[in-house]
Amino acid sequence: MFTRAVRLLTIRGVDVRLDLSLIVLAALVVWTFAIRFAAEHGLVVAVVMGLAGMVLFLASILAHEVAHALEALHRGIEVESITLLIFGGVTQMHAHSSRPRDEFVIAAVGPFVSLLAGAVFGLAGTVAGDLLPLYGAPAEQLLRLLAALNVLLAVFNLVPGAPLDGGRVLRAGLWAVLGDRARAVRMSARVGQALGLALAGYGLWVALTSPATIAALWVLAIGGFLFWAAGQEHRTSRLDELYRSTTVRAVLELGREHPATTFPLLPPEDLDVDGPTGVVGGTTTSTSRLPTVDLDDDLHTLVDAFQGDHGSVLLTDGGQPVGVVEERYVARAIALLRRGATPTSRTPTTPGGTR
Ligand SMILES: [Zn+2]
Repeated sequence: MFTRAVRLLTIRGVDVRLDLSLIVLAALVVWTFAIRFAAEHGLVVAVVMGLAGMVLFLASILAHEVAHALEALHRGIEVESITLLIFGGVTQMHAHSSRPRDEFVIAAVGPFVSLLAGAVFGLAGTVAGDLLPLYGAPAEQLLRLLAALNVLLAVFNLVPGAPLDGGRVLRAGLWAVLGDRARAVRMSARVGQALGLALAGYGLWVALTSPATIAALWVLAIGGFLFWAAGQEHRTSRLDELYRSTTVRAVLELGREHPATTFPLLPPEDLDVDGPTGVVGGTTTSTSRLPTVDLDDDLHTLVDAFQGDHGSVLLTDGGQPVGVVEERYVARAIALLRRGATPTSRTPTTPGGTR
């Protein structure tokens, strides 16, 4: 998703990246601050206020995301990266929480830190006027505005639609009540889509009926993004469930039922598992170095096995090697599955029933 991001720094092994779209947000913040204070303090001071406000605001968003990341790490969940982008920040994790309570705390700690930042900026604002004899007034205004923005950040993120933090809090609650995480994910994603649509509709309405066009278009864009991200979450959850309910054996059967999607499995007699090489896709590959997946494992395990530059996976049936399958063929079968094709049997068949 964030291919145009550059790495800024690493915090406890987590890459912090800046997406190129962040430039738009940074420019918007500088511009908004400068316009707001130019009449009162002159253009130079106003632009300096804008630049300082932009740096401190982005630092606030980063603090919010770092809070999510550190809490996740603390609860044993690997964090892939933090990305700051036009709509704020995103913390990407390798896995999801295994308990509703973990999910709740990881989600809630972000808005909590934003509220805390709001309080700190507000407090600093009240003493800045006394501490700074020269630029006390602009500093006070700047800090108070940052306090308000952080409170706004916390409140907006608590809107109960995934993928916003509030949506994840809702999801943790639904998960705890229903005992079914997948259903909780989809319900909170649907709420997120509805809220995104409502927000976008409101933004569009204001843009068409009032002079506050830029702010309204911003609301429209954020609503649209929320709608898209919530839909993405819904689709990912559906796919996740499909992967978990489908065995590798069933995927192979699907390949045989749809001749266009055949799996050129390398037969076991052609394999020399103990030896160093086997022929995969026309090239000689060491089969002993290939990841191994059993036919009764789920599709998730197979897809995960292709991670880390492994284009092929050694399939076993009850410990016995049955063949090597290449990623592109699995991808083709997954495409079939997503289009609604169902293998005749999703339960394991007798050994020998598969090539
Ligand atoms: Zn957050």
